[in-house]
Amino acid sequence: MGDMCDHRAVPADPAGAEGPRSAEADEVRRFWGRLGLPGLVDVHTHFMPERVLRKVWGYFDALGTLTGGLEWPITYRQEEAERAGILREFGVRAFTAMLYPHKPGMARWLNGWAAGFARRTPDCLHTATLFPEPGVEAYVREAVEAGARVFKAHVQVGAYDPADELLRPAWGLLAEAGIPVVIHCGSGPAPGEHTGPGPIAGVLARHPRLRLVVAHMGMPEYEEFLGLAERYGQVRLDTTMAFTDFAEKLAPFPPGALPRLADAGDRILLGSDFPNIPYPYVHQLHALERLGLGEEWLRAVCHDNAAELFGL
Ligand SMILES: [Zn+2]
Repeated sequence: MGDMCDHRAVPADPAGAEGPRSAEADEVRRFWGRLGLPGLVDVHTHFMPERVLRKVWGYFDALGTLTGGLEWPITYRQEEAERAGILREFGVRAFTAMLYPHKPGMARWLNGWAAGFARRTPDCLHTATLFPEPGVEAYVREAVEAGARVFKAHVQVGAYDPADELLRPAWGLLAEAGIPVVIHCGSGPAPGEHTGPGPIAGVLARHPRLRLVVAHMGMPEYEEFLGLAERYGQVRLDTTMAFTDFAEKLAPFPPGALPRLADAGDRILLGSDFPNIPYPYVHQLHALERLGLGEEWLRAVCHDNAAELFGL
């Protein structure tokens, strides 16, 4: 499993041969270099079929429900290969292709695209997705057999209950296979009918070993989702957009919960939302650093936790 995306095959410094790096890349590399890391692992980056991505960008441009009405200028609008090249230049050793359906009948097609993307992008962790619909168990199994190493689910965009009966066999299969599922289930930047910790608690009660990675630290329900990670040993959180100036204005992380954040240091994974971010990538890293939780915490979050989870 996973041989289509073998990170050991990636040269240590693939950007080196392509000429001078950007000033931002130098800054990102200084960040992980100072920590003595071999690079970063970013579990939350978006790659999807071009016309789907253009649509997503259109939503951000229109200040739609995805953004909660906020102005959201996308920083990295390059072509696909160039975007992957930027991550390499930053020294991101492994990243994902987070993609998700907003309606039935779409997930299998997205999974086919993502398998092809993983084949042509060896530093991408082969990603897949799912939706509550007849046949979901079969295509999730197919994706796992094809080498998928991480799944993405988006409760707000999909507008479904993650505890939906139709998903039960798929969650069971993923729990058994130990495959992480990055799930956007917090109520930020805009709530949905099924967002928030309640429905996820229902899923975990049935599948306590499911490796859920709560996207955006569960923003804005940070403490409730930290509570789920404290209760369930396989629940993790990704940092995507959390602690940045942008997110702190929208949904500030409660300073009183910092000790819990420190204690959960083995369960927090770097995520960025690249390329759909309204600020430079390096700001996410500085936002983590200024929490003041120390270098050991940063090493775990920015690289080691994900490297262990994915066997990199
Ligand atoms: Zn995202």
